[in-house]
Amino acid sequence: NLYNMVQDLKGNIRVYCRIRPAFNSEAKNVIDFTGEDGSVVVSDPLKPHKDGRKVFQFNRVFGPIATQDEVFKDTQPLIRSVMDGYNVCIFAYGQTGSGKTHTMCGPSGGSRKELGINYLALNDLFLLSNRRKDITNKLEIRSCTGDDGLSVPQATMHPVKSTADVLHLMKLGEVNRAVSSTAINDQSSRSHSILTVHIHGKDVSGSALRSCLHLVDLAGSERVDKSEVTGDALKEAQYINKSLSCLGDVITALAQKSSYIPYRNSKLTLLLQTSLGGNAKTLMFAHVSPEREYLGETISTLKFAQRVS
Ligand code: ADP
Ligand code: MG
Repeated sequence: NLYNMVQDLKGNIRVYCRIRPAFNSEAKNVIDFTGEDGSVVVSDPLKPHKDGRKVFQFNRVFGPIATQDEVFKDTQPLIRSVMDGYNVCIFAYGQTGSGKTHTMCGPSGGSRKELGINYLALNDLFLLSNRRKDITNKLEIRSCTGDDGLSVPQATMHPVKSTADVLHLMKLGEVNRAVSSTAINDQSSRSHSILTVHIHGKDVSGSALRSCLHLVDLAGSERVDKSEVTGDALKEAQYINKSLSCLGDVITALAQKSSYIPYRNSKLTLLLQTSLGGNAKTLMFAHVSPEREYLGETISTLKFAQRVS
């Protein structure tokens, strides 16, 4: 289809930036959102002169008022391409509190109005699979999370028939996420959460079609201050930082069409190897917080995301 042709011309890695609304409307925002052209201008309110501004370019930018539906609409064609046999990975990257889980799962309160990509994607795939006879009606879902960030032996595979089944499984996964909390707050920030959907079907010529969609809510990307954590928590923080930087290295190598892709440097990239590269499609959401106190983390997230795009 046309979408895939355009994608093939543009390459298979896209990066979207999403800016969370400010918690306190009195707080001075650091992110200057400059319209529809995919650029983000970061200016430090305490250094408003030109040198204090940094410009980043992405495939798409969602400002603080962008809705879940708008975000999904720009993600839907990519998600639907799994039904044409493409493997797809969608990553939510950013510091704790920047909106990763909001994008993937929805708001913390679980409002039915603002369901995230996981739910909307599954719903859409069930809808398509019910409509298309060439795809069997059975989508299989594998949800895996573990206390070391990614614990494949603990992964479980469950056949599902509806989006409600998936939501139920996702809740179980959430409960199983690491509970070691960080200085910043969030108990889920210390682990990656991966929701994998396996698609089994037949293409138009009758040959088997197998593909998968990985929906990944990454661990928080913040650098952990060594003075705040020690022992196992410090080891864990270093492990997470390493797995995120390995992911960045892999995606960068793919974007540069490098002959060597360092998949083996982390469990995360090893697990996702068959869905990263080749003709697989990758989308990364770079999430940023608007508060000035997070300026350093915001810049480092935008730099990371710019590097992989
Ligand atoms: P993360 O998963 O990156 O740690 P969360 O998704 O938990 O961050 O977001 C932190 C808080 O901000 C949550 O209370 C969440 O509901 C809220 N939030 C995040 N993004 C948005 C958004 N785009 N619109 C409204 N609220 C948001
Ligand atoms: Mg989260």
